[in-house]
Amino acid sequence: MTVAERADTIAAALDGEPGCRIVETPVTVLASGQPLVITTHVVRGARPGHTVGIVSGLHGDEISTAELVLSLLPLLPPADVTGSLLLVPMASPLTFETGTRSTTLDMANLNRVFPGATSGTVTEMLAHTLLEDVLAPCDVIIDLHSEPDSMGIRCLYTPAPTDEQGRQSFALAQASGCPILYVTNGLSGMLMTEAGGRGMAVVMPETGGPLPGKDGLLPEAQGEILNMLRSLGTIPGDPEPAHQVVVDAVSHLRAPAGGLFRPVVGFDVVGRSVAGGELLGTIASVFSGETLAEIRAPFAESWLMMARGRLARVHPGDPLYIVGREQGRPA
Ligand SMILES: [Zn+2]
Repeated sequence: MTVAERADTIAAALDGEPGCRIVETPVTVLASGQPLVITTHVVRGARPGHTVGIVSGLHGDEISTAELVLSLLPLLPPADVTGSLLLVPMASPLTFETGTRSTTLDMANLNRVFPGATSGTVTEMLAHTLLEDVLAPCDVIIDLHSEPDSMGIRCLYTPAPTDEQGRQSFALAQASGCPILYVTNGLSGMLMTEAGGRGMAVVMPETGGPLPGKDGLLPEAQGEILNMLRSLGTIPGDPEPAHQVVVDAVSHLRAPAGGLFRPVVGFDVVGRSVAGGELLGTIASVFSGETLAEIRAPFAESWLMMARGRLARVHPGDPLYIVGREQGRPA
């Protein structure tokens, strides 16, 4: 393992000679005296071009995308890169520490507090630093998410191609080759929403989770990001074409009762469709084995974006599946 070169600021790393440098951007100092920093790998390419931010870990319980970002670094030698890349494997160190979606210090969800504030809570400070001191030079942002626990996901959220920012973002989504594209404006406080409002092209791949097999979805997720980088001219080559469906209505199927969740449709169907009414899974009483609820596909053709693919304890309201309906199709 080689010791990585370092730079003091993102600007200094971008101004330097072609190369890969690590930058630790300070956010604040915690009660324990430990500094809270955002660690970024800056790949400065050999020729001018786009500045692309690849961010993972807004939710620290989604660890497969951190592995994905780290796995991309050896695939992006500076000599092959046009423009620059800013790669953040774990944007929210505090939630990685606790394995939680929200920061336990202030109970805030980082991906709901953008643009953040210097005078806010620790999560709001983190959002502000990420946007203003790390990602501000970017014209393209790829915001990676996945799932914790027993869930696996494969789809990509993109703005609609209704204005220039939306068209650039949607073109990236198409280039990715991800099988299911979800057209959405996002929610207030999301990085996707805030960055999009600033004119950055932005997509939000949801790829990974504890899917079966040695590598889970890692090769597919790598391929989707490399396809997007090829379409931008950041790396050489053309994106590999793939069949895609665009969904514009999504149903989040949650547990109507607590108990033992038994999947019928599992990880192997994520990214594909099932017929309306098909049984996806059941919830049983852990004491009697009695079936308490059946979970069924809601749309005539239901595209499976996320599945809880393993036997799991579920609380009422816990997510089980996300399914989409293709644009223009009847309910
Ligand atoms: Zn997330």
